[in-house]
Amino acid sequence: MRHTVYPFCRHVKQKFDYQWAQVRPVAPISRLCLTRSVRPEPTSSSYAAASAVSGAGELLQLLRDERPRTRAELAKLTGLARSTVGARVDALLASGLLAPSGEAASTGGRPPVRFAFNPEARVVVGADIGATHGRVALTDLSGRPLSEIGENLDITDGPEVVLDWVVATTRRLLQHAGRDASELIGIGIGVPGPVEHSSGRPMRPPIMPGWDGYDVPGHVRRDFDVPVLVDNDVNIMALGEHAMAHPDVEHLLFVKVATGIGAGIISGGRLHRGAVGAAGDLGHVAAPHAAEVLCSCGNVGCLEAVASGPAISKALAEIQVSAESNADIVDLVRSGNIQAALAVRQAGRTIGEVLATCVSLLNPSVIVIGGTLSQAGESLIAGVREVVYGRSLPLATGALQIVPATTGMQAGVIGAATMVIQHALTADRVDRAIARSVAQSAS
Ligand SMILES: [Zn+2]
Repeated sequence: MRHTVYPFCRHVKQKFDYQWAQVRPVAPISRLCLTRSVRPEPTSSSYAAASAVSGAGELLQLLRDERPRTRAELAKLTGLARSTVGARVDALLASGLLAPSGEAASTGGRPPVRFAFNPEARVVVGADIGATHGRVALTDLSGRPLSEIGENLDITDGPEVVLDWVVATTRRLLQHAGRDASELIGIGIGVPGPVEHSSGRPMRPPIMPGWDGYDVPGHVRRDFDVPVLVDNDVNIMALGEHAMAHPDVEHLLFVKVATGIGAGIISGGRLHRGAVGAAGDLGHVAAPHAAEVLCSCGNVGCLEAVASGPAISKALAEIQVSAESNADIVDLVRSGNIQAALAVRQAGRTIGEVLATCVSLLNPSVIVIGGTLSQAGESLIAGVREVVYGRSLPLATGALQIVPATTGMQAGVIGAATMVIQHALTADRVDRAIARSVAQSAS
């Protein structure tokens, strides 16, 4: 198998300059365990100490924007007593999640120290498993990739082979970064099929033979005793794009256009999965005015059957233009082939017809178009815009942006890591971890 190891040098919004050779272990940290979900039972002697820092997790939420603040600024922001803020800051400092970050201007006397969230305190693994390719990235607690390994693989080899590769790759990434497995707070995995998110088991995935109902977290946890969260690839791409490019947007629709078509819905700032995790399955919505083309699901006229990569290839073949893969279509459009550009634009219009309905239902403020075909210049997105702005009511489209994805091939790994970070760094979980740590050191 061929593999590439490549460092990330720059990110969309936040600049960072980790080089592969420069990825370094941070200073030793206390053994704060963010990975257990069982509520601790502090001893009576440790109870008072633990309850004194209860609320530290809430304070951390405020600091996760990475802006440095002094104790006095935090007291003003939260309305809490300085002594309470002081105890919480101390607890977070001891955990390593907070670190000193320079000094504020002095108002006489010693200048006060500023503190900021320390994303290097722990590491996360995000894995994006496609039909023929897998990527695994080691990220910090902001979801920024420190390093990544991508390799060709075949999802039809089954869960044992593919998940053993994820485990082995995680070990390699930790080793290269000089990080210990105890610093890992969790592993997020995206797969190309429907998943019951609560159990992490794929549910009747059409292109993943052998994976139906498989205990993905159980397999990975044999080697790493940390939370393992699983979701479908479009949901994790939506999370990645939202976290990195649109963190302040509350209502966002991410649409992947590739061999299949699907959507990830961010509603009220959170991923909306629906009752059984099937929300966003746009590919099998009937496209208005579509020809009665047979779809892989057995229906006719599905959006995926008339506007996906294979559908565009088929339309081009009928006019003697050869494009066997999605990459061929992108290359043709980029090289100025008019027929290919027109076919992609028409696919964009067809997708736009379905999205116009979504806009009326969900009222997003941003629609992000991602997936391989979004790389075909402006053609696809121009078709989508043409119909959505033409069809939807002005109130819903007044402030609506329809933009291309910016995280590209990284969206999946960043999103998988983001899913874990959102799970592990909730105020409640941070409080419990700190209470456990205090109880342990008191006993
Ligand atoms: Zn279908």
